[in-house]
Amino acid sequence: MEKRPLNPEERNELCAILFPNVTITPEELEEKFPPRSLPEGAVVSRMAPSPTGFVHLGNLVQGLTSERMSHQSGGVLFLRVEDTDAKREVAGAIDVLIETLSHYGIQFDEGASIGGEVGNYGPYYQRLRKEIYHVYAKKLFLEGLAYPCFCSEEELAAIHEQQEAEKANFGYFGKWAKWRDASLADIQSALAENKPFVLRFRSTGSLENKIHFTDLIKGDLEITENDIDHVLLKSDGIPTYHFAHAVDDHLMRTTHVVRGDEWLSTLPFHLQLFRALGFRTPKYLHIGPLMKMDGTSKRKLSKRKDPELALTFYKAEGFPVEAVYEYILTILNSNFEDWRRANPDTPASEFRFSYKKMNPAGSLFDKMKLLDVSKNVIAKMTAEKVLELVLEWTAEFDPELCGFLSADREKALAILSIGRGGAKPRKDIAVWSEMREYLGFFYDDLFVEKDPMPENLSKEDIKEILTQYLPLYSPKDDGTVWFEKLTQLAVSLGFAAKPKEYKQNPQAYKGHIGDVSMVLRVAVTGKTASPDLCSCMQILGKETVCRRIQNTIAKLNG
Ligand code: GLU
Repeated sequence: MEKRPLNPEERNELCAILFPNVTITPEELEEKFPPRSLPEGAVVSRMAPSPTGFVHLGNLVQGLTSERMSHQSGGVLFLRVEDTDAKREVAGAIDVLIETLSHYGIQFDEGASIGGEVGNYGPYYQRLRKEIYHVYAKKLFLEGLAYPCFCSEEELAAIHEQQEAEKANFGYFGKWAKWRDASLADIQSALAENKPFVLRFRSTGSLENKIHFTDLIKGDLEITENDIDHVLLKSDGIPTYHFAHAVDDHLMRTTHVVRGDEWLSTLPFHLQLFRALGFRTPKYLHIGPLMKMDGTSKRKLSKRKDPELALTFYKAEGFPVEAVYEYILTILNSNFEDWRRANPDTPASEFRFSYKKMNPAGSLFDKMKLLDVSKNVIAKMTAEKVLELVLEWTAEFDPELCGFLSADREKALAILSIGRGGAKPRKDIAVWSEMREYLGFFYDDLFVEKDPMPENLSKEDIKEILTQYLPLYSPKDDGTVWFEKLTQLAVSLGFAAKPKEYKQNPQAYKGHIGDVSMVLRVAVTGKTASPDLCSCMQILGKETVCRRIQNTIAKLNG
């Protein structure tokens, strides 16, 4: 018997068995979720994560793009939870996502929220929308645009094998699609046997046809039509991503779908679906992947290989939220850095984000650049702000340091104020995890003799410098007097007062002023790099400074 699609009467007959519980109509849903009344040009966008518990940089990139586009245009940003795959679900994942994103300034106006959901276009959890999907599944079936398929896993595997043997394209389509034009009798008997079935899309696309499509990030694309009869509803009645995407983004009145470009390959199917359902297609923005340099080649950031993909990484390392936010803007919008240079003190949220400035191929993630951005962000903070954030971070990740800093706030603020403010603030710190190394020496319990004395000086010269410096030192000296005293000492011991003088005539000197101050720095701070030494010594106080110098002398004698 020649195969043919079911006719309308046959479909009507089957409909009662396939969708016995669907009583609502698409028209009723249209009425229940009317177009939003928003100003012209307002963007309605969303995040649609699966609750897997892993919040990554890609979420932030996608979230920030959607958030900026919605909020800059006076539109709406909502959160829809794509929880159709119960196996991948992690308890509490949505709360973690909401909290993490809100930490980065991404606030949802509507949708899933902690403890429930808000808004008139819900439910926002896909698992609660089963009934809605079935309304549209029924519609497609009645219109001859979908059909039940009773193939078992084994049968599908056999089709795949046969396609391999014949060097044919893979997939359930055309002549391979066994149930596409199955007779009413065959379907009825499979139903009578209680065989599990999925609902498939009845594609009329052809690989011969090309579609012209404009993606707002990728630009003009020529894509091949879809000829596969993809699954719409799984055998448990739960929709696939594709079907749910079309139904949800239509009913929730999404105007712009911002998502990863891994979805580009199924876009032809999505466009078909929107048309079949009679929905207007939203605008699409497919974001390229985050890449990183691996040797001389670029590759995608990977969950397995790159800890920096997880947002928890930034928290644990102690990157301030502003720094990560600012860095993401840097890699997303090519003009952000110029804007920042022109507006050094304006909050990043005032930058006019534009999808037109996004790189279609994806952004390059560079940790060195992030550290650099972070140094600039921290350098501009007040000492109070730095202390607040450092206390917050150390409370979780370095309780010992937290204890010292909070025991004497005045001292901590004095330390953090060194080199801060003014036109050229110091840029020593990129992450809070560097704080222990940076300021530990201010606390005797954390002081470590980390770096050696300059190698170009003899033990005798070092002892001489330290011994003669002791009686000269007064904590009351300001920077100028402090430096004058040190210079006089240097000159009296045969060192050049300026590095330049030394360079011009190295034979005439033991070294220069820099060597002398380095000896003092290593003795007092244990390190060759520290903030302004005179200020450090004032905060440390005479007793500690002298004791450390004396200890160093004693060690050199020993
Ligand atoms: N649940 C999908 C994902 O996490 C959502 C993609 C989309 O935004 O449409 O990749």
